[in-house]
Amino acid sequence: MADSRAAREAAAKFANGNAPPGGSRVSGVLVVGALIVIGAAVLIYYSSRGGRGGTGGGGSDGGQLAAEKAAAFGQLVSDRIRAQYGGAHPNRIAARTIDEVGGRLVEGSREKLGGRTFEFEMLLNGDALDAYGSPNGDVFMTGGMLKNITNWRDAAALLAHEMGHILAGHVQEAMNAAPVATGGRGADLIANYDPLNAAHVTAMTNLLNTFMKTPFTPAQEAEADRFALEALTGGRYSPQALHRVLALLLEMRKTQMIAYPGRHPIDEERLKRIEAAIAEKYPDGVPEELDF
Ligand SMILES: [Zn+2]
Repeated sequence: MADSRAAREAAAKFANGNAPPGGSRVSGVLVVGALIVIGAAVLIYYSSRGGRGGTGGGGSDGGQLAAEKAAAFGQLVSDRIRAQYGGAHPNRIAARTIDEVGGRLVEGSREKLGGRTFEFEMLLNGDALDAYGSPNGDVFMTGGMLKNITNWRDAAALLAHEMGHILAGHVQEAMNAAPVATGGRGADLIANYDPLNAAHVTAMTNLLNTFMKTPFTPAQEAEADRFALEALTGGRYSPQALHRVLALLLEMRKTQMIAYPGRHPIDEERLKRIEAAIAEKYPDGVPEELDF
């Protein structure tokens, strides 16, 4: 918790052009991390503008620019998530396995993805239990989550649920609607974002901080769950994994602070709805060949 706050403060201070205060709890690693995030953001914006003359133009040209801005925003979201959780996990087996599990989900639900692509990444942080989806298709899980859940099928369930949020546009929706310091809504800031404008950078930092803690609504959870159940089955995983991992997290939350249920609300009603959906699809029981 303290680390994530320090990271946010470091990022905000750099965004304002100030050096972090000496002797504070902001560690060198976090400062370097924040610098990399800001540096990467500037690079991405310049590369996404490469070969373009100015920002004018309507019609399809304007549409292309909007798509570039949306893609660049997705990249900022991904970098913000990485900065909070210590970047990529160094364990190669974990990195390769999350890739394989995600690959099975993608293969199994290809016709529902509308051409969208997904990347799966294990994050370093060993304490936080969380998972995130970025609008650009990056799906993240913390090392702490993997350590605490039962197995990779449960990880598959959480990854599939994040894919559901991404496909339904839930993150983008919330960020588009959020009020921002530069006036108007997140959508205006994303469309006009200039990484060399200090006011824009501060407003974007705040918007990304908001994203990190904004909970999804029960309706959004239900929509993401519906996709997750289908993607699990498509990937030859048992859909029961979704019920199992959410029940586990709900139980854990009774005795410890877990980040995940704060953003993805879990209650008995949601668990019952998942059970009912599985029973409806498999009235004679879930086939044994599905990986449970
Ligand atoms: Zn969710």
